[in-house]
Formats: sequence, structure tokens, C-alpha cells
Amino acid sequence: MIQVVFDRARCPGQAVDAASTARGEDVVEIEGDVVLREAAQRRDDMATGNVEVVASRLEFLSRSETPPFVVEDRTNATEELRLEYRYLDLRRPAMQKNLILRDEIAFRVRRVLHERGFLEVETPMLTRSTPEGARDFLVPSRVHRGQFYALPQSPQLFKQLLMISGLEKYFQIARCFRDEDLRADRQFEFTQIDLEISFPTEDDVFDAVEAVLAEAFSAAGIACARPFRRLTYTEAMERYGTDRPDLRYDLPLTDLSGPCAGSGFAPFERVLGAEGAVRGLRVPGGASFSRKKLDELAELAREHGASGLVWVKREASLSSPAARHLAAGVLERVAEAAGLEAGDLLLVVADRAKAVFAALAALRAAAARERNLVDERRHAFCWVTDFPLLGFDDESRVWFPMNHPFTSPREEDLERLETDPGGVRARAYDVVVNGWELGSGSIRIHRVETQERVFRLLGISPEEGRRRFGFLLDALKYGAPPHGGIALGLDRICAIAAGATSIREVIAFPKTTSGLDLMMKAPSEVGPDQLLDLGLEPSRPPRP
Ligand code: ASP
Repeated sequence: MIQVVFDRARCPGQAVDAASTARGEDVVEIEGDVVLREAAQRRDDMATGNVEVVASRLEFLSRSETPPFVVEDRTNATEELRLEYRYLDLRRPAMQKNLILRDEIAFRVRRVLHERGFLEVETPMLTRSTPEGARDFLVPSRVHRGQFYALPQSPQLFKQLLMISGLEKYFQIARCFRDEDLRADRQFEFTQIDLEISFPTEDDVFDAVEAVLAEAFSAAGIACARPFRRLTYTEAMERYGTDRPDLRYDLPLTDLSGPCAGSGFAPFERVLGAEGAVRGLRVPGGASFSRKKLDELAELAREHGASGLVWVKREASLSSPAARHLAAGVLERVAEAAGLEAGDLLLVVADRAKAVFAALAALRAAAARERNLVDERRHAFCWVTDFPLLGFDDESRVWFPMNHPFTSPREEDLERLETDPGGVRARAYDVVVNGWELGSGSIRIHRVETQERVFRLLGISPEEGRRRFGFLLDALKYGAPPHGGIALGLDRICAIAAGATSIREVIAFPKTTSGLDLMMKAPSEVGPDQLLDLGLEPSRPPRP
């Protein structure tokens, strides 16, 4: 950026005339003399602030129509308009900065991993289903009529096979495709820093990942305190109600099942009698929350599946709308257990454990924001370990893998695999920052018998197991080394490093939350010839 002077006293009239028709976003070629600016006009805050060009010639290389929005950082364009004219949006300095940061992060990640002996290997895009819990994107085969490739949900099986091939350390900055309901900040296609190590301990994986993240975030001047804190899944849930806790503030939950026993209060009695949970969240200084605020928090608790919210305030004395329903002494016991001090608020949720934790995790985040407890300059990293191997789907009444079906159970839990599937812990871990899951991985199953047992538990019959994963089961029979790894979300890392509110800000050409490419207009219909080639019929109305 430099100032160019067209003034009749110093420049040829032709140049001045041409310049007077120039408009924003025109592309011009200018010739002239670089001169020192007058002392009063010099600007030390710009690299080129002390000089200017006195033009002798101006030529338009390309002219611009009036752009649909002002191509500056401060734009009032809607995101739809920005995405439709992404090439103009990307001209804005803030977006250029994001792309530069992303490049720097990817470069550093490659450098650290290369220096640590990781080998980057590309794996296929046209492949078969790699189950990560989402729907596949399918690609019809023209040559093999009626057959389909799937786009990879992750390179999971390929990286395991590479370990069986004798690679010791693999990585890939890999594109992944998942056809899932797009929640707020997801994309159908996204990028992972995918890695795998043979003969690893959890510590080997953690060490590599901490080095990668430290390098990545240092590109944005963000320091990571290492080693990262570690919590087990159970600790994270009990203490923060979530497996991706925001540790920039503490605000732990308190188990109130004991103090609430025999309360005589129907909502408490009901859940305590039925393996439910009662937990509380002390909000320091929260006694000042208005009635309206408390109503909002109750609404938030309901949105997260809880049937309601009980609050207790300690001002001059203890008060709560539930007070008159509680047996004598319960309110005091509850306040005591939660460590309620003068000026504090206690939020209590009683329900099925799942709803209690979901609601209190949301309340915890809301309360931290409300009380200004979030230090936006801090980045609090942690590992969450020892996830349960399986979850149980109440509706379909089947076990499903918490991570994916290739995750190894803990050795000491193996004997309970069939008798107590829900109690088996996995050698799985997540890395979390500021309440965001940055990555998730595990030590894998490397014995074919264990893999078959896990498939069986998941309702995958031996025939189906062979049909879908025969290549893996075979490979495991030829001397598979123990192996494990992780995948980190590059888009999310870049967004956090850039301080962006959405991953769309750090992806050059993202799709909308409903999966549309507003610029290229994708997805789109294709001609009947193309469909015929693929052996597909022209579109029918979608299934209801
Ligand atoms: N493939 C897994 C995922 O995409 C990551 C891993 O287990 O390494 O979430």
C-alpha cells in the first residue's frame, strides 16, 4: 500500500485525467518517481509511510464494477453475500491474515512432525466406508455399474494398515468427509492433522500432540503451558458436567445426592429413588442475578434436557423458591455441602444423570460468562482420558462405539467386555482447549480376536464384519504391531489461533451451515446423460 500523487502541478495531464476516473478495486499499472513525502505528512506507522509515488503514467489493466459490498475489514455484508462473492471477501485484509496464519500453522505442523520422524503419506479419497459415526458421501462408479465409492470420513483404517505395513510414524493433513447434520460450526468436508504411531504409549501420543499444538499456536503468539493437564472422563463429567471442560475458570459441580436424601421434595425424591443424580453449581457472587436472569438459566437447563432448575441464594440468610417444600435442615445441608458463601448463588439440577450433567455444563458456561470469569487471553489445554468404550442408545437399545469400533479397551477391563460392556474403559483420549474438542484418538485394537469380540458387541455379525472389514481382519493376522494415534481438527485450531468466531473464517471456500456452496452453486443438478452414464435414474422426490 502506497500513496500515489496525481496533481497537475507535478504530473502529465493525461495521467491525472485517467486517475480521476479510477474507482475502488480497479487494477492499474502506474509509473512514476518514488519521493520522500513532506515532513508533516510522513507516517511512521506504515512501512511505506514516508514515501509516495508521483505518477507520470497510469494504465488500467482491469476495471471493477461496483462490488456488492465494501472490500474492507469493516463490512456490513451478510455472511451469505460474503460467501457468494468469496473472491472479494478474501481480498479483505482480515481474511488474508487468516489464510496466511493457516499456511504458517500447516507449515509448522509439517515441520515438527517431519523433525520427529513422522512420514506424510496420502491415502485415497475414493474408498469404502470408514465408520466415524456419520453418513458417508457416496460416489457412483461409472465403470462398475451399481457400485459406489465412499469418501473417507477419516483415514482411520488406512493409517492402521500403514502401521501394519511397518511404518513407525505416519501423519497426513487429510481432508475428511462426513454427511452429518451440520451443527453450528461444522462443515461436510474438513481437514484433520491425522497421525499414528506404532508401539506407542499414551504418553508418546500426548507428547507428539503437545509439540504440534505448541508450534501451531505459537504461529499466533499463543503459548501453551505443557504438559497439558489430564483428567479422566469420569473426573471431567463429575467435576464439570462435560467431557470437554473449559478450564479457563474452575467452577466445579458438587454432588448433592447425600444432602438431598430425605428432602421430602418430590423432584429430588423421584430421581434419587431411580438412579438419577442431584448436582449443584456454586456461582460466586451470583446472588445478585435478577429474576429474569434466573428464568433464562432455568430455560437453558430445560433446553439441555433437565426438567427444571432450583436455585438457592445466600444473602443475609438462605432463600430459595423450593425452601418451603424441603424438610427441615435440607437447605442448610445443601448450602454447606456446596460451600455457599454470602453473595453466592447455587444452581441445583435433579434428573437423569445425562440431563443433569448436560444442563449444569451449559449453566456453568453461562454463569462464567455472566460473572466475567473467562479470561479470553488464556488458553487452557487438557487431556480427557479413559472414555467408556461403548455408549448405549436408549431408543434403538444397542451399544455403539463412543469413538469408533477400532478403539482398544483397557487391558484390565477386557474380561468384562461381554458381562459389563458399559463399564469397560477405552484407551481413548481427547485433547480439549477452552471448551472445544480439538482432537480425539486412541490406542487401537491390534489383535484380531479382540476386534471380532468388539464387532460382535456392536451387533456386527461375523459375516458382516468380514464383508465390511475383511481387509482389516486379515491384516491383523499378519503380525500387527500395537499402534495408536489421534486426529486434530486443523480448521478449529486455525479458528482459535485467529480468534475467529467460526471455522468458516479460516477456510477459503467453506459451505453454509446447510452445506451449500453459494458461490459455485453446489450441490447442483446434473444432466440426464451424466446420470445415464452412471446408471442412475433422474431424481425422484426425496424420501419423507
Ligand atoms: N479417526 C479418528 C477421528 O477422525 C481419530 C483417531 O482415532 O485417530 O475422529
